[in-house]
Amino acid sequence: MENWLNLHVTSVCQLNCRQCYFKRYDGRKGEIPLDAIARICEDFLSTDFPLDGYTIILGGGEPLLYSRKDYIFL
Ligand code: SF4
Repeated sequence: MENWLNLHVTSVCQLNCRQCYFKRYDGRKGEIPLDAIARICEDFLSTDFPLDGYTIILGGGEPLLYSRKDYIFL
């Protein structure tokens, strides 16, 4: 067991899966600003959780369509 943070960094996606819960919202496309992702990750990593280990998942939507992927996926 370890601590998990699952961030939906963008709602943009080129697919149209029938089970997609993003389509159940009002259809707005958006993404979490890069500075907000950094702050959320810093908060998460500085929290004194009782479990050892950390995993951060950057998902979507399609995370490879995130506008600043040159920064977050390097
Ligand atoms: S976000 Fe995921 S589930 Fe939704 S359409 Fe894209 S690939 Fe499919």
